[in-house]
Amino acid sequence: MLAPSSAGFRALWPLLKPHRRRLLLGGLCMLVFVACWPLLAWLAGQLIPAIGAGDLPAVARTIGAALVVFMVQKAAQFGQDILLAGPALRVSQELRRSLFARLQTLDFGALEKLSAGDLTYRLTEDADRVGEVIYKTIQDTTPSALQLVVVLGYMVWLDWPLALATLLLAPVVALLVSSFGARVMGAAERSQKQVSDLASLLGEAIGGLPLVRAFAAEPWLQERFNTEIDLHRQARYRTLRLLALQHPVVGFIEAAGILTVLLVGAARIQAQGLDSQGFSSYVAALLMLIDPIGHLTTNFNELQQGQASLKRLRAIESEPVEKPDSVRAQPLGAVRGELLLDQVSFGYDPASPVLHSVSLQVQPGQVVALVGPSGAGKSTLFSLLLRFNIAQTGQVLLDQQNLVDLRARDLRQAIALVPQQSSVFSGTVAEAIAFGRPASPEQIREAARVANASGFIEALPGGYASRIEERGSNFSGGQLQRLAIARAVLGDPAVLLLDEATSALDAEAEEAVQMGLRQAMKGRTVVVIAHRLSTVQEADQILVLDSGRIVERGSHNQLMATAGRYRELCERQFIHLQA
Ligand code: ADP
Repeated sequence: MLAPSSAGFRALWPLLKPHRRRLLLGGLCMLVFVACWPLLAWLAGQLIPAIGAGDLPAVARTIGAALVVFMVQKAAQFGQDILLAGPALRVSQELRRSLFARLQTLDFGALEKLSAGDLTYRLTEDADRVGEVIYKTIQDTTPSALQLVVVLGYMVWLDWPLALATLLLAPVVALLVSSFGARVMGAAERSQKQVSDLASLLGEAIGGLPLVRAFAAEPWLQERFNTEIDLHRQARYRTLRLLALQHPVVGFIEAAGILTVLLVGAARIQAQGLDSQGFSSYVAALLMLIDPIGHLTTNFNELQQGQASLKRLRAIESEPVEKPDSVRAQPLGAVRGELLLDQVSFGYDPASPVLHSVSLQVQPGQVVALVGPSGAGKSTLFSLLLRFNIAQTGQVLLDQQNLVDLRARDLRQAIALVPQQSSVFSGTVAEAIAFGRPASPEQIREAARVANASGFIEALPGGYASRIEERGSNFSGGQLQRLAIARAVLGDPAVLLLDEATSALDAEAEEAVQMGLRQAMKGRTVVVIAHRLSTVQEADQILVLDSGRIVERGSHNQLMATAGRYRELCERQFIHLQA
């Protein structure tokens, strides 16, 4: 019954291997715990007739013995629970760790398909549920199943015809349990899908709340949210209804079973197949079956729900990962910063390219500005330079080495990105600049100095140890941009990819950022997605991209002299930023 649906979990067995010793010791405790049950049933068989006969010394002896057995059993249970909890938790931790590691290597295309809310749900709720199932399976399902087997064995030994009658009832219960289990699983899967839809919507909605308010679209969003939570309630209700139905039905079958057994037992005593002591032991043993059956039923349901969660977690593993480094990949020595794109074409869907035969040469230390309307392919070009994506035809070279022949890590140390949205992780200022790279306090201070950030950082009460809240909410836009510049220059990259922010800062903040940028650009090759007139005016080369093609190239003055696409763009796009 458990076999097909537990297949997903069985794949997790290898993760338990390193914990064999603890599992073995826990298993021993479990055996002691389980072995106490028939002993207790036997003692009950002794006790009840002794009570009936008013034999006080016999009653006292039996109760004393039962107390000792109980003590041993509870100690063994403690040992079992404590010894098995560790490995179970480690397996779920390992699962979460490996999935997060996988997430970090996923192909960017795949990553963009998965919503942040959905992924968060999977790595928290789903992972918790799977962890719970692993824990329950090891620490509860296994001893319950063992208890069932041992106690049933004892009952067969006591009187097999009576045991046979009992066992005939078991398939009825099992059938009910499994048919319900399948339905509960279906309902649970639908309800979890609803929760993750809800999480996605929330993720989107919370990010977009200002926008919604700006468009006075609150009723529309509320309506969407209401529909989503209603679907969620319905799905959840269907699961709960099934669960509610399951308990009384299974409970009634159990009660009917016990009453039937009592009837058959009375007949067996009459036929002298069993004495009253044996029958008392039998009834006590029968009562000892109720608990493990209950546990197995509940755990089976949880296993079904966990199965759905595990499936959703494991789906992350089937997403494509970033192309690994070539086996021929050579370490990248000192980088001069020469970039060459040779007839590069690329499409997220290879059938519809978004870059067409783009060629470009940038000498070390040159500044190249990319301009063009939104959707022209500027960010896509950046993604090729960082090897987030790989050109389908043509090649991209850094210092005359093809990017696909480099190690991604080396490449991304040589080429640093200052993104348009200066997102920083929460933590201290020093941590935000170092961003996981080994850096001395001097190096961090130097990077901040270059980015024109040291002034404001040192003025903070905590200096470099000041905390940045989530999404940098306690820093101004200009400060965050300078932190992002410091982060980029920390590794002393030869090439800087700069995506200029479009949102205007006030003049003073703008000036501070510009100064940081100018210092950061010094001595580096810079490719900049330009939104400011000053940037294009100072660039050595300007490339005008339109629909994935370079339509014009030259300096600002050269391009302004021809009444082409650039001049048109300049007049439309940059004039208002001139101030
Ligand atoms: P720009 O940066 O110039 O605004 P992009 O490089 O972002 O332009 O986009 C170029 C084209 O590629 C656009 O048509 C855009 O819709 C498409 N595009 C961008 N990113 C993706 C992606 N991850 N998957 C599919 N298409 C994309």
